[in-house]
Amino acid sequence: MMPSRPDGIVVAIDGPSGAGKSTIARLLAERLGYIQIDTGAMYRAAALLLSQAGIDLDDFERVEQFCQNIDIRLELVSGKQVVLANGMDVTDKIRTPEMSLLTSKTSALKPVRDALLKAQQLMGNRGGVVLEGRDIGTVVFPDAEVKFYLSASVEERARRRCEELLGKGEQITLAETIADVAKRDRQDSERDIAPLRQADDAILIDSSRLTIDEVLAEMATLCRKKREKLEATL
Ligand code: C5P
Repeated sequence: MMPSRPDGIVVAIDGPSGAGKSTIARLLAERLGYIQIDTGAMYRAAALLLSQAGIDLDDFERVEQFCQNIDIRLELVSGKQVVLANGMDVTDKIRTPEMSLLTSKTSALKPVRDALLKAQQLMGNRGGVVLEGRDIGTVVFPDAEVKFYLSASVEERARRRCEELLGKGEQITLAETIADVAKRDRQDSERDIAPLRQADDAILIDSSRLTIDEVLAEMATLCRKKREKLEATL
């Protein structure tokens, strides 16, 4: 493997919410024998900690001070990724529609992004990882060996998210979900720091009319080819 990345390549998957990144990242990581890093879960956990502590988001210094002491980890427990925030299991708590919108707001704050950027780079710099988020290919690992930008229409993304939430017993309509998804798209792509954007060298995949298996097969083939090519040049 590359001397700078002893454990393999870095695969970056960015894209808007509901494009299927988490499912695809998990399956792709399994196929490649890599570790999946869900950076959205880390931003969600940070948002939860800030809100539980009652921190005023407009108070830059307090937010900054608070973020210096947060400890967010992703751990694999019996094959399932568990999110730990300051030692507390928050895996399920961070997945509500309210937390999605709150996270989109708090993730625009510089101290939050600085703290998580460092943690993500430390987790991934040995390689052998699939990272998913909004700014992986542009900011966290601009030198990632393979970059994907996974997208789908707002309607299709909202339809999938609505189905997922209804399955969990949430009371939500498709119209509400479309509005939420569109709002998050706006917040994530219009913020000043690390906005959602397709990296120039990212491969665009539109999952609107593709099955998960089709998307996965295309991505896995590209990753394997890249890995083989890099290994052959050593
Ligand atoms: O991917 P997920 O929907 O769980 O992400 C939740 C929120 O976290 C996003 O709407 C976005 O505001 C933020 N996020 C981010 N940068 C990342 C990953 C997520 O700002 N790399």
